[in-house]
Amino acid sequence: MRVLFWCDMEGIGGIVKWDQVMAGKSQYEEGRQLYTAEINAAVRGAKKGGAKEIIVVDGHGAGGDHSFNSLIKDQLEPGAEYVFGYRWGCYIEPLLGADAMLLPGAHAMAGTENGILSHTMSTENFRMALINGRAVGESGIVAAIAGSFDVPVIFVSGDEATCLEVKSLVGPTLHTVAVKKSLSRYAARCLAPVEACHLIEIGVEKVLRDRTNWPKPLKFVSPVELKVELADPDKSNAFKGKIGCEVLNPMTVTSKGENFWQAWDQFWYRS
Ligand SMILES: [Zn+2]
Repeated sequence: MRVLFWCDMEGIGGIVKWDQVMAGKSQYEEGRQLYTAEINAAVRGAKKGGAKEIIVVDGHGAGGDHSFNSLIKDQLEPGAEYVFGYRWGCYIEPLLGADAMLLPGAHAMAGTENGILSHTMSTENFRMALINGRAVGESGIVAAIAGSFDVPVIFVSGDEATCLEVKSLVGPTLHTVAVKKSLSRYAARCLAPVEACHLIEIGVEKVLRDRTNWPKPLKFVSPVELKVELADPDKSNAFKGKIGCEVLNPMTVTSKGENFWQAWDQFWYRS
């Protein structure tokens, strides 16, 4: 069984501020410790659950050379391979023939009222993303990428709002672990890290052993349209003349494809 983890940092227990997830900030090292511990727990769960090939993609853009490179290397759980430095939403090769995608540390989409550090790709650049009219966050984009290759998302951990968001998108049998409950965008009631890790470890093991109940791969009716609302009109310049993309108005870009991956690749690649 081959499984992929696409990991993010904003959904890790105990993380409630940007300073905990941005390279160079005073609390970043604490955030990295919390992040590494939860990902290790997920890997332990995957090993116990029977995964033979575990590929962990560090998907957090911490800034500078720490982008997609925040996990603390000398603390990593053995028995998995770790992908560092690869641009977000692009490392698809291992999806071909993979059994499942898991999303530890996921966060809620931009605009979510009680979503810790909620955003979609970039607060600076994007306000909202929709696939065939359905609003999605990063978790939905990742689930749709995986679905393009017939791979289901079966597990998510993050705040309560994120767990609900992903469940409503991929199906009620998604296994979720809520490690915190948001009180605002920057405040939450959190589990102790050791407890969050324990729940993640047993949750991942359980879901991998329970294949008959996995959600189906997330697919959209073809042609698939990705529509992105931009944060300001200047951002549309990057999409003018881009193959497959259409600038509907200075605040809105669309990309259409046979499947979501094609639409996404046209929009995201080289943007
Ligand atoms: Zn992130």
